[in-house]
Amino acid sequence: MRRFKLSTRVQHLNESATLRMAQMARELSNRQIDVINLSLGEPDFDTPTYIKEKAKEAIDSGNTKYTPVAGTLALRQAISDKFKRDNQLNYSTDEIIVSNGAKQSFANLCNAMLDNPLDEVVLLAPYWVSYYEIIRLAGGSPIVVHSNVANNYKPRLEDLKAALSANTRMLVFSSPCNPTGTLFNQQDCMEIANLLKEYPDVLVVSDEIYEYIVFDQKHFSIGSIEGMNERTATINGFSKGFSMTGWRLGYMGAPKEITQACIRIQGQYTSGASSFTQAAGAFALTSDLSITRKMCEAFKSRRNTLIRELSRITEWTINIPDGAFYLLPDVSKTFGKKHNGNMIHNAEDLAIYLLNEAHVALVSGDAFGAPNCIRISYSLSEEKVIEAVKRIEAALQKLS
Ligand code: PMP
Ligand code: GLU
Repeated sequence: MRRFKLSTRVQHLNESATLRMAQMARELSNRQIDVINLSLGEPDFDTPTYIKEKAKEAIDSGNTKYTPVAGTLALRQAISDKFKRDNQLNYSTDEIIVSNGAKQSFANLCNAMLDNPLDEVVLLAPYWVSYYEIIRLAGGSPIVVHSNVANNYKPRLEDLKAALSANTRMLVFSSPCNPTGTLFNQQDCMEIANLLKEYPDVLVVSDEIYEYIVFDQKHFSIGSIEGMNERTATINGFSKGFSMTGWRLGYMGAPKEITQACIRIQGQYTSGASSFTQAAGAFALTSDLSITRKMCEAFKSRRNTLIRELSRITEWTINIPDGAFYLLPDVSKTFGKKHNGNMIHNAEDLAIYLLNEAHVALVSGDAFGAPNCIRISYSLSEEKVIEAVKRIEAALQKLS
């Protein structure tokens, strides 16, 4: 029996599918079951020592107080320089806000831009789970542009065009993409930018948190196209490239009025991000990226291993990710099969079946706007990846 009345807002809010699956995997592990957890988008590497040392040094020198809401000037300067160096983007320090993770950067932005269901946000699908829910929580309406594995999960321009309207406030995508690993290269970005010329009031939100995890192509920032910097919010963070998920540090560069609105919101909700985390972050951005590159090499090798192993599972259609550490097979040919009389109706059923039968945790594509798919996060060692596919293969063979 419910005692307290919860807000309508939260009653309509779905739990994060990635975090829920990770929790289910943890619960099995706690029962001493050997689960291979390929559900969570979290690198298994430790944070590089040089970054940890910098945080310790900051604590020891008394850098333990509140920071400016937007982030320390030292970190914002390092971010501004990094945007120029790596991305050919121009964001001055007052166009940058540091937050408790890129997730908060996106939440601030949605709260600053959206009020009511007529405020539409075009999402290129498959999309990262939290975009959809955060947009709705802020009061706006997500408008989804679908794509499929046959075109490597790049939505067709005519579909994107059909989704844009006078109500569109933002267009959101991540590159490399979570959950597909697809990279939107220079040509893709040029095509999107061209289309948007007819919609000058639409803000582009480019989530580049996987920027440093790119395998064969070159990362490209849509904001670097002429005329786009001033209409692009570029989101990034330390979680993936520097394996700093638990540090909670992300940032955004955006037109000044938007950044300043986000600062007002963050000032009421959480204040500035942690002081010593920011000191370490500034150091990470200005240091040599050789450890980051090594981690990227490891992900590339794991990707190749995963693709090789998955080629035995012929009923799944796999994509070839360009970056990040996700692969999103189309698993719809498995739907309709049964095990002990229990039917696999959809990707959610399949994820639960594989968790219970194979002890491999994956995430159903539903929450990513890809109901025919299942997400595999290959952020574990190659041995574990190989073992996981063996187990999946054996579990699928039990279906008829
Ligand atoms: N954007 C994307 C595309 C992500 O996959 C994630 C999750 N790691 C985030 C943003 C949020 O990252 P964090 O809050 O850890 O910086
Ligand atoms: N973004 C990662 C993922 O997609 C981490 C979990 C989360 O923040 O949702 O799995």
